[in-house]
Amino acid sequence: MATTLGTVDFHVHPIPRLINEKELSREIDRSKIDVAVLLALDVDSSYLEDKHISSRILQECIWASNLNCLGCLENVKEILRTSYTSNEYVAKLAKNNPSKFIGVGSVNPSKSISYVKDKLKEVKNLDLAGVKLIPTLQFFNPLKEKDKLQKIFEFCEDEEKIIIFHTGCDPSIWEEPAFSQNANPAVLEHYVRKFKNVPIVLAHIGSYSRKYPGIWLEEALQLGKKYNNVWFDISAVPYLLVDRKYVEKISREVGWDRILFGSDYPVVWGSNISTVVDFIQVGTPLSENDLEKVMYLNALKLLGL
Ligand SMILES: [Zn+2]
Repeated sequence: MATTLGTVDFHVHPIPRLINEKELSREIDRSKIDVAVLLALDVDSSYLEDKHISSRILQECIWASNLNCLGCLENVKEILRTSYTSNEYVAKLAKNNPSKFIGVGSVNPSKSISYVKDKLKEVKNLDLAGVKLIPTLQFFNPLKEKDKLQKIFEFCEDEEKIIIFHTGCDPSIWEEPAFSQNANPAVLEHYVRKFKNVPIVLAHIGSYSRKYPGIWLEEALQLGKKYNNVWFDISAVPYLLVDRKYVEKISREVGWDRILFGSDYPVVWGSNISTVVDFIQVGTPLSENDLEKVMYLNALKLLGL
């Protein structure tokens, strides 16, 4: 079993309805995580109260899965209500424990441009390290929200912030790829090319999908091959570091200097951070050097630590 000098978890959700500050700290310590990046989630369940939006989603459900899933809407609302994590809360956790936690804010591009601008100001004032975007739960198409995405990227360029962008499918209706097309890394090329100074982390390397594991891995790696500002986290898809087929592909296409460890804790059910760390350390064919980069050194570099 390989051991590393230290570990940075680049993808943790301090969702107040799932876990409190004490439980989170305990899990981080128990798993011997040196630094955890805590992600806010600016999602809004009232989005689905709009009749036009909810009937459109229902219609898409029928097209995508041939199911009339009225229950889906309630399930989605519940996910949005549960997962909401404010920028202030994340900033507070980071402030209470600055050597352990780094806070990343979140901005919802499906809201108005003035809302987006206000949220960016908030991210700046709270001294958060970046902006998390999640086109599935936030219901936005990166190519249709150009004004807002442009603002977000400009802000991150001026303020030297990181963007963490969810890629791949997601639980619930988003397991159906038709609902997750906006999280295909290929839709990001316009921004990645234009803002070469903004580091963008493709969370889950485009790969998370229960039905089709590795669904947009190819698209993610191709983007990373073309642009050096593209990084990747392996949260929810740790098998990419264990299964030789994937390890060889990543080695060949982008190498290990921009791959980051992340656990997605506590969102992946039945698993805690140390389970994921052990799974990787026991099973990975990576050299000690490369594993060290993924678990620790790459994150330090990206975070400027
Ligand atoms: Zn996540």
